[in-house]
Amino acid sequence: MKLYNTLTRKLEEFKPITAQKLSFYACGPTVYDFAHIGHIRAYVFNDTLRRLFEFKGYDVNHVMNITDVGHLSDDADNGEDKMEKGARKYGKTVWDLAQYYTDFFFMSMDGMNILRPKVVCKATDHISEMIELVKILFKKGHAYETKEAVYFDVPSFKDYGKLSGQKGEEKEQAVRDDVYADPEKKHPADFALWFKRIGKFKDHTMHWESPWGDGFPGWHIECSAMSMKYLGKTIDIHTGGIDHIPVHHENEIAQSEAANEVPFVHYWMHYHFLQVEGQKMSKSLGNFFTIEDIKKRGIDPMAFRLLLLQSHYRQPMNFTWQALLATQEAYRKLKAEVKVLRDQIHIMRDFMPDVNLLATFLGFLENDLQTPQAVALLFTMIKSHRTAEEKLSFLTDADALLGLQLLKEEEEIDVIPSEVIDLAKQRNIAKEKKEYAKADELRKQIESKGYKVEDTKGEYTIKKL
Ligand code: AMP
Ligand code: ZN
Repeated sequence: MKLYNTLTRKLEEFKPITAQKLSFYACGPTVYDFAHIGHIRAYVFNDTLRRLFEFKGYDVNHVMNITDVGHLSDDADNGEDKMEKGARKYGKTVWDLAQYYTDFFFMSMDGMNILRPKVVCKATDHISEMIELVKILFKKGHAYETKEAVYFDVPSFKDYGKLSGQKGEEKEQAVRDDVYADPEKKHPADFALWFKRIGKFKDHTMHWESPWGDGFPGWHIECSAMSMKYLGKTIDIHTGGIDHIPVHHENEIAQSEAANEVPFVHYWMHYHFLQVEGQKMSKSLGNFFTIEDIKKRGIDPMAFRLLLLQSHYRQPMNFTWQALLATQEAYRKLKAEVKVLRDQIHIMRDFMPDVNLLATFLGFLENDLQTPQAVALLFTMIKSHRTAEEKLSFLTDADALLGLQLLKEEEEIDVIPSEVIDLAKQRNIAKEKKEYAKADELRKQIESKGYKVEDTKGEYTIKKL
């Protein structure tokens, strides 16, 4: 299997630390706002990677953190804690905010058929592990304390910058003049391991006792501490978005390798962004859609999964509703064909599965997750002249790998039938034209099919009765 390793900037043959075992850490969400479909792209990628290893018989230890403290509005140490900001915006306590958006995140992941990580670890549950790690960094001469914070001493770690190819000194220029900097900070690239509850953070809601006084951890230390706790000092694969390469992951490497003196990660994998009109879809830009927006347009989340798999994870992907609607049609047809196949077979007769076909399919995925080629093969195969048995046998494997729920019975999935969607559209048009009698009639027709439409501020939602 070949994977693109950001560290070496090469496609590399994958070699596990322990045969048939995979230690896998995925950077998780910061739970201060809704998980959006950009996050879904990120975690569908993680899920597909995991499914591939599991299909190949690996025992995958998949760990993901939940950031619920310490992530400042600028990925470096500037600005405000995102959680505090979110709490103010939504009028909730930081703890309620974290719970609410963690629940929303997992609802979105479950809805996308993304397998839950084996370990989900919250930063706020691991403060003592972070403190222990910072103590080691002090002991080994990689940390120092100021009146305001504890910092990692970047020049003390000679490999700093090896992931992004950016040297610590280059970061000097990257620091903006308009942001406040701790006057005692020795080097602009030094980053916080612990913030004290003084100065701009004197009212910080989340805080804990530490050898350096009352305060809270910096963002990066959580991933080093939790990865070490659950997966050991050196792990096989660590993933994240490309935004994490220059700061967050560079800092994770510095902390982990300075403390443990062994390589932290063998394969670093980074996915590109889901964009809207050329810009990263992000919580801070406010240009995002969630899984709820997909569902309320009557689109099956699995159609969105199919759309995601049709682009390679290292390429940016531009999101449009038009493309999603077209994929919804393709997905619907695919499911219909699977249904026809199933109706043809009541008992699987003896047959010889085409091992070459599966090998080709797997070969695409084993080539740095070339999901677009795998999906194309799936479409070609279903139109081929193979027997229903052969097709279904292949589809069972393909579905385990791609997670598209192709073999799940229609009724089990909460899909709104296309005729109901059409009726709802017509009803909306009638309403806009003020043809209320017609709109009422259409509503009745929708209800007779077991659905209802709810109107909210010019939009409508279709729900089961
Ligand atoms: P955050 O919640 O911002 O800490 O992000 C959690 C993960 O989702 C990180 O690995 C990000 O890189 C990734 N992510 C955030 N926005 C997007 C996007 N628009 N497209 C793809 N991945 C994203
Ligand atoms: Zn992380």
